[in-house]
Amino acid sequence: MSKVIIVGAGGVGKVVAHKCAQAEDIFTDILLASRTVEKCERIAEEIAHMRGRVLRTCALDADNVSAVTRLLETEKPDLLINVALPYQDLPLMDACLAAGVDYMDTANYEPLDNPKFEYKYQWAYRERFKEANVMALLGSGFDPGVTNVFCAYAQKHLFDEIHTVDIVDVNAGNHGLPFATNFNPEINIREITQEGRYWEEGEYKAVSPMSVKCDYHFPAGIGSQPLYLLYHEELESLALNLKGLKRIRFWMGFSENYLNHLKVLENVGMTSHEPVVFEGKKISPVAFLRSVLPDPASLAERYTGKICIGCDITGVKNGQTKRYFVHSILDHVETYTDTRSQAISYSTGVPAVTGAAMVVTGKWRKDGVYNMEECDPDPFLELMPKLGIPWDVTELDPAGAIK
Ligand code: NDP
Repeated sequence: MSKVIIVGAGGVGKVVAHKCAQAEDIFTDILLASRTVEKCERIAEEIAHMRGRVLRTCALDADNVSAVTRLLETEKPDLLINVALPYQDLPLMDACLAAGVDYMDTANYEPLDNPKFEYKYQWAYRERFKEANVMALLGSGFDPGVTNVFCAYAQKHLFDEIHTVDIVDVNAGNHGLPFATNFNPEINIREITQEGRYWEEGEYKAVSPMSVKCDYHFPAGIGSQPLYLLYHEELESLALNLKGLKRIRFWMGFSENYLNHLKVLENVGMTSHEPVVFEGKKISPVAFLRSVLPDPASLAERYTGKICIGCDITGVKNGQTKRYFVHSILDHVETYTDTRSQAISYSTGVPAVTGAAMVVTGKWRKDGVYNMEECDPDPFLELMPKLGIPWDVTELDPAGAIK
């Protein structure tokens, strides 16, 4: 029995709304709020039609702290689920602090004028949240999110000491369009065009964008896929929280076609955040690019194929070297049947709802600001398959780990 406010009605917000509506024993009152209320209304209509449940909707500017605080004081929800953009994290955390409401998100805060993947802004709220008896759960998507939980599970059940973690993420699906991003284009493109970084023996090492590549063999018929080393935000908290860790890296798969399009866009300046003056107005090229690319949510009905995201972990158990692959596989057609969404949005929205359930049912509830691996992985991994994402552990030959 809980009341939640979902902020953001994009690709992920839609899945979160569907899944909260589906888990009616946990989420009894749902308000979907976003900048463009028509998007909330369309999602609510779809849910009423597919699931027979009524969601309330309202317009909300998440950057306006006093407006959000007023809404929270009026509604008194148990939790605010932030699935707007990373730029809204701090205003929403400020409003939650002011109104005494628990907070959750799926991506770390980024200032609009200096967007970078780092937790320092949100970790700076730890004391204030503790003192106000409020919880903030950070990064409850898939990566970050489930990947952190997989590492916590491995630390708790599979290893005495974890030595290396390689997080691997591939979308082996096909939407049939020449070029589109699977989630918010600004953030997606920045992940790929920024310097690659990984953590080893206590320090970060940088590599040029997309310069380190490996081939990785995925299960479930996905097979061998080229992966590229990227920086990803969960590395920052996992490097601090995993016992005995020597190295952690993140790898993502891209097709040749995707990379060629991106290279051209980058070469002509379309991936830049630096504002340019166009017809007398300042515009950011990547924000303009976003407006002409397909809406990621619109890819859903044409997508086929599978995605796989997992943690390939080596370490020691009872004095023996071990290697496990803890992973999930999703099928775009199945996720579309369930929530009219593609598997990337689904793989973020279902863990967001699982994390939300952990907070509102008290299983993870504690005052302060926490990353996912700081909470008990077991109840999360028990609930996630019931909400739509199965997971599995495979033991692998340590000699075959990515070099
Ligand atoms: P979209 O761009 O599809 O949706 C964002 C939504 O937020 C839109 O409805 C948008 O409104 C709304 N919004 C933006 N600014 C405001 C504002 N100031 N006030 C109110 N609403 C606002 O993004 P996605 O759904 O793809 O992604 C949502 C979040 O999930 C992002 O933070 C993204 O980084 C994160 N993510 C996390 C992943 C993970 O695994 N951890 C993976 C993928 C995404 P409008 O419609 O008016 O533009």
